[in-house]
Amino acid sequence: MITIKEKKDCCGCNACVQKCPRKCIEMKADEEGFLYPIINTKLCIDCGLCDKVCPIINNYEERKPLKVFASKNTNDEIRIKSASGGIFSLLANKILKDNGVVFGAVFNKKWQVEHNYIQKSEDVYHLRGSKYVQSQINDSFKNVEMFLKEGKDVLFSGTPCQIAGLKHYLIKDYENLITVDLVCHGIPSPLIWNDYLKYILDTNKDLNKIYSSEKDEFRISSVNFREKETGWKRYSVKITGENKASKRSFTLVNEPGYNNIFMNGFLKDLYLRPSCHFCPARKGKSGSDITIADYWGIERIKPEFDDDKGVGLVMVNNEKGLNIFSEVVSEKIETNYNDALTGNPSIESSPVLSIYRYEFWSLYKKHGISTIEMICKKMRPSFINKLLTSYKRKIKKIMNLCGL
Ligand SMILES: Cc1cc2nc3c(=O)[nH]c(=O)nc-3n(C[C@H](O)[C@H](O)[C@H](O)COP(=O)(O)OP(=O)(O)OC[C@H]3O[C@@H](n4cnc5c(N)ncnc54)[C@H](O)[C@@H]3O)c2cc1C
Ligand code: SF4
Ligand code: SF4
Ligand code: SF4
Repeated sequence: MITIKEKKDCCGCNACVQKCPRKCIEMKADEEGFLYPIINTKLCIDCGLCDKVCPIINNYEERKPLKVFASKNTNDEIRIKSASGGIFSLLANKILKDNGVVFGAVFNKKWQVEHNYIQKSEDVYHLRGSKYVQSQINDSFKNVEMFLKEGKDVLFSGTPCQIAGLKHYLIKDYENLITVDLVCHGIPSPLIWNDYLKYILDTNKDLNKIYSSEKDEFRISSVNFREKETGWKRYSVKITGENKASKRSFTLVNEPGYNNIFMNGFLKDLYLRPSCHFCPARKGKSGSDITIADYWGIERIKPEFDDDKGVGLVMVNNEKGLNIFSEVVSEKIETNYNDALTGNPSIESSPVLSIYRYEFWSLYKKHGISTIEMICKKMRPSFINKLLTSYKRKIKKIMNLCGL
């Protein structure tokens, strides 16, 4: 029977819950809003299946990709709507064209993120785009298994630990399954995301009053973490709201990612899931067929390929991945692993667990969303520190040039 001694020992993949033959494991949110399994020991028969499928207990080997590419979806409209090169949509459409099923992360009615599946090309937009909140897997692995056994082609996309969880859950390999993971910095707390949305609605309630009666419900109507109106590299966060009665829409947030408080706290690692600081699935350990990401640094490696509409980094991990990628992606250039790693250290390195994360959570109950700004300000390097760092870099460069 699975026991979680420390929070970092569970990535929340839900494999144990779905595998338990006695249905005696339930996921419950902790005080940070992350889900963890709770076992009803009275019902447990100690069969050990939960331990067997857990991707933290059972790690795959580290792997380097077979091939590395910079690539783009040739449909600019889809590429602009995607987080990076729009490669996910190309892969998904291929599976759907062949009557298959595609699983991925979607927003639900409450703007929380969960895994779901689609069977029609016109529904790909639900899965498209990065949603920087941990998705709830629910019964997805069970459904994947059902479709695979029916002989359907299935594409499952998600974070590396979700792919590892699925593969352990399935126990055996299926020829008709293709798995696509992301290079994953880490996953933010659903609790902070929910509180952030409430805060956004609250700070904009006067806007709603101008157009309608105060009683009319005001709700979120769209969220884009990676709006490219300002470019792929300098993306914005855009959130719109709608007045339910008048159906009138308002822009609630439209600001560069680096100015957005939710993104700031995420990228400063204040509210990532504890397991992300000790990630069990990066460095190719997810077992996925293909890994997709942003090709950060492409402007230095292949400047002619970068139009600031999004370039995807694709790491093809095996022959199965190479076959489907070669079939659906026409605009691509082969690069190499070291170039990809230089722009994207998250391929191998987990974010450092800092004292600021502890400080953030100890203050959060009292100060709510404003805690993000308080801690981010503390983390900002002082002018003197910035100056020292810049001098250190210059000295290092000169020493390198002199061969010292
Ligand atoms: C939490 C998170 C952290 C990331 N960290 C990095 C990083 O450090 N470096 C980097 O280069 N890229 C990172 N990415 C990936 C990047 O943002 C793009 O998703 C990726 O480049 C693919 O883009 P695309 O244009 O091909 O497809 P898109 O259409 O933009 O991607 C959609 C895909 O992302 C999946 N997805 C979206 N949100 C989630 C979620 N919450 N949980 C699981 N799956 C999700 C969907 O299922 C779908 O497969 C991260 C993505 C997420 C969700
Ligand atoms: S040991 Fe078996 S019965 Fe007990 S919780 Fe794990 S899977 Fe369920
Ligand atoms: S990592 Fe997944 S399988 Fe392991 S305990 Fe957590 S939810 Fe269960
Ligand atoms: S960083 Fe690792 S543990 Fe965290 S969500 Fe991503 S893959 Fe899972």
